[in-house]
Amino acid sequence: MKVRQILASKGMKVITIQPQQSIRDAVITLAQHNIGALVVVNDQAVPIGIISERDIVRRAAEAAEAAESIFTQSVQDVMTLEVVTGMPQDDIFSVAATMTDRRFRHLPIVEDGQLVGIVTMGDIMKAERDQYRGEIDTLETQIMADPS
Ligand code: AMP
Repeated sequence: MKVRQILASKGMKVITIQPQQSIRDAVITLAQHNIGALVVVNDQAVPIGIISERDIVRRAAEAAEAAESIFTQSVQDVMTLEVVTGMPQDDIFSVAATMTDRRFRHLPIVEDGQLVGIVTMGDIMKAERDQYRGEIDTLETQIMADPS
Protein backbone atom coordinates (compact mmCIF):
# COMPACT_ATOMS: atom_id res chain seq x y z
CA MET A 1 0.00 0.00 0.00
CA LYS A 2 1.17 3.54 -0.79
CA VAL A 3 1.04 6.77 1.22
CA ARG A 4 -1.20 8.15 -1.55
CA GLN A 5 -3.95 5.70 -0.51
CA ILE A 6 -3.85 6.88 3.12
CA LEU A 7 -4.12 10.51 1.98
CA ALA A 8 -7.05 9.62 -0.27
CA SER A 9 -9.03 8.42 2.75
CA LYS A 10 -7.90 10.89 5.42
CA GLY A 11 -7.56 13.98 3.22
CA MET A 12 -4.70 16.33 2.38
CA LYS A 13 -5.29 18.97 5.05
CA VAL A 14 -2.21 19.78 7.13
CA ILE A 15 -2.29 22.10 10.13
CA THR A 16 0.71 24.41 9.90
CA ILE A 17 2.32 27.25 11.83
CA GLN A 18 4.86 29.92 10.93
CA PRO A 19 8.31 30.08 12.57
CA GLN A 20 7.85 33.52 14.13
CA GLN A 21 4.62 32.56 15.90
CA SER A 22 4.72 31.90 19.62
CA ILE A 23 4.61 28.66 21.58
CA ARG A 24 1.34 30.00 23.00
CA ASP A 25 -0.09 29.92 19.45
CA ALA A 26 1.37 26.43 18.90
CA VAL A 27 -0.15 25.00 22.09
CA ILE A 28 -3.57 26.53 21.34
CA THR A 29 -3.49 25.18 17.75
CA LEU A 30 -2.45 21.68 18.86
CA ALA A 31 -5.28 21.59 21.41
CA GLN A 32 -7.91 23.05 19.04
CA HIS A 33 -7.20 20.40 16.42
CA ASN A 34 -6.48 17.59 18.89
CA ILE A 35 -3.19 16.77 17.16
CA GLY A 36 0.41 16.11 18.23
CA ALA A 37 2.54 18.10 15.81
CA LEU A 38 2.50 21.12 13.52
CA VAL A 39 4.46 21.48 10.30
CA VAL A 40 6.35 24.77 10.31
CA VAL A 41 6.13 26.50 6.92
CA ASN A 42 7.63 29.65 5.37
CA ASP A 43 5.72 32.28 3.39
CA GLN A 44 5.78 30.02 0.32
CA ALA A 45 4.12 27.21 2.35
CA VAL A 46 7.32 25.14 2.10
CA PRO A 47 8.04 23.00 5.21
CA ILE A 48 11.07 24.32 7.11
CA GLY A 49 10.61 22.43 10.37
CA ILE A 50 8.27 20.50 12.61
CA ILE A 51 7.21 21.10 16.19
CA SER A 52 5.65 18.31 18.21
CA GLU A 53 4.24 18.13 21.71
CA ARG A 54 7.52 16.44 22.73
CA ASP A 55 9.56 19.48 21.70
CA ILE A 56 7.26 21.69 23.73
CA VAL A 57 7.37 19.46 26.83
CA ARG A 58 11.18 19.25 26.62
CA ARG A 59 11.47 23.03 26.36
CA ALA A 60 8.86 23.54 29.10
CA ALA A 61 11.02 21.47 31.46
CA GLU A 62 14.06 23.63 30.66
CA ALA A 63 12.01 26.81 31.08
CA ALA A 64 10.60 25.59 34.40
CA GLU A 65 14.11 24.98 35.75
CA ALA A 66 15.18 28.45 34.65
CA ALA A 67 11.91 29.98 35.95
CA GLU A 68 11.14 31.34 32.47
CA SER A 69 7.94 31.35 30.46
CA ILE A 70 7.79 29.02 27.51
CA PHE A 71 4.67 30.61 26.01
CA THR A 72 6.43 33.74 24.72
CA GLN A 73 9.24 31.79 23.04
CA SER A 74 8.99 31.46 19.27
CA VAL A 75 8.26 28.32 17.33
CA GLN A 76 11.57 28.62 15.43
CA ASP A 77 13.52 28.40 18.70
CA VAL A 78 11.84 25.14 19.71
CA MET A 79 11.12 23.28 16.43
CA THR A 80 13.16 20.49 14.86
CA LEU A 81 14.92 22.03 11.86
CA GLU A 82 15.76 19.01 9.76
CA VAL A 83 12.33 17.73 8.89
CA VAL A 84 12.16 14.33 7.25
CA THR A 85 9.44 14.18 4.59
CA GLY A 86 7.85 11.45 2.51
CA MET A 87 6.28 11.29 -0.94
CA PRO A 88 2.81 10.05 -2.01
CA GLN A 89 4.36 7.13 -3.90
CA ASP A 90 6.24 5.84 -0.82
CA ASP A 91 5.32 2.39 0.45
CA ILE A 92 3.75 2.51 3.92
CA PHE A 93 6.00 -0.31 5.23
CA SER A 94 9.15 1.65 4.40
CA VAL A 95 7.62 4.82 5.86
CA ALA A 96 6.76 2.95 9.07
CA ALA A 97 10.34 1.61 9.26
CA THR A 98 11.77 5.12 8.88
CA MET A 99 9.50 6.48 11.61
CA THR A 100 10.35 3.63 13.97
CA ASP A 101 14.10 3.89 13.33
CA ARG A 102 14.15 7.69 13.67
CA ARG A 103 11.72 7.65 16.62
CA PHE A 104 9.10 10.11 15.43
CA ARG A 105 5.39 9.72 14.72
CA HIS A 106 4.68 12.40 12.11
CA LEU A 107 5.73 12.45 8.46
CA PRO A 108 4.81 15.45 6.28
CA ILE A 109 4.22 14.40 2.67
CA VAL A 110 5.66 16.62 -0.04
CA GLU A 111 5.16 16.59 -3.81
CA ASP A 112 6.92 19.07 -6.13
CA GLY A 113 8.10 21.02 -3.07
CA GLN A 114 4.54 21.52 -1.78
CA LEU A 115 3.00 20.03 1.33
CA VAL A 116 0.25 17.62 0.24
CA GLY A 117 -0.54 15.83 3.50
CA ILE A 118 0.76 14.33 6.72
CA VAL A 119 0.88 10.70 7.80
CA THR A 120 1.10 9.63 11.41
CA MET A 121 2.11 6.33 12.94
CA GLY A 122 -1.57 5.93 13.90
CA ASP A 123 -2.65 6.34 10.25
CA ILE A 124 -0.17 3.64 9.20
CA MET A 125 -1.29 1.20 11.90
CA LYS A 126 -4.93 1.72 10.88
CA ALA A 127 -4.12 1.19 7.17
CA GLU A 128 -2.19 -2.01 7.97
CA ARG A 129 -5.02 -3.30 10.16
CA ASP A 130 -7.63 -2.55 7.44
CA GLN A 131 -5.44 -4.30 4.85
CA TYR A 132 -5.03 -7.42 7.03
CA ARG A 133 -8.78 -7.45 7.79
CA GLY A 134 -9.54 -7.34 4.06
CA GLU A 135 -7.13 -10.20 3.40
CA ILE A 136 -8.65 -12.30 6.21
CA ASP A 137 -12.18 -11.65 4.86
CA THR A 138 -11.06 -12.76 1.38
CA LEU A 139 -9.46 -15.94 2.73
CA GLU A 140 -12.56 -16.75 4.82
CA THR A 141 -14.77 -16.28 1.77
CA GLN A 142 -12.52 -18.57 -0.29
CA ILE A 143 -12.52 -21.26 2.44
CA MET A 144 -16.34 -21.13 2.76
CA ALA A 145 -16.75 -21.31 -1.03
CA ASP A 146 -14.39 -24.29 -1.39
CA PRO A 147 -16.65 -27.36 -1.83
CA SER A 148 -13.92 -29.93 -0.94
P1 AMP B 1 6.85 12.89 17.45
O1 AMP B 1 7.12 11.49 17.92
O2 AMP B 1 6.47 12.93 15.99
O3 AMP B 1 5.91 13.65 18.31
O4 AMP B 1 8.24 13.68 17.49
C1 AMP B 1 9.35 13.33 18.27
C2 AMP B 1 10.53 14.23 17.90
O5 AMP B 1 10.84 14.06 16.51
C3 AMP B 1 10.29 15.74 18.07
O6 AMP B 1 11.51 16.35 18.41
C4 AMP B 1 9.85 16.19 16.69
O7 AMP B 1 10.13 17.55 16.41
C5 AMP B 1 10.68 15.28 15.82
N1 AMP B 1 9.99 14.97 14.56
C6 AMP B 1 8.68 14.59 14.40
N2 AMP B 1 8.41 14.36 13.12
C7 AMP B 1 9.55 14.58 12.44
C8 AMP B 1 9.91 14.53 11.06
N3 AMP B 1 9.05 14.16 10.11
N4 AMP B 1 11.20 14.87 10.73
C9 AMP B 1 12.09 15.23 11.68
N5 AMP B 1 11.82 15.28 12.98
C10 AMP B 1 10.56 14.98 13.37
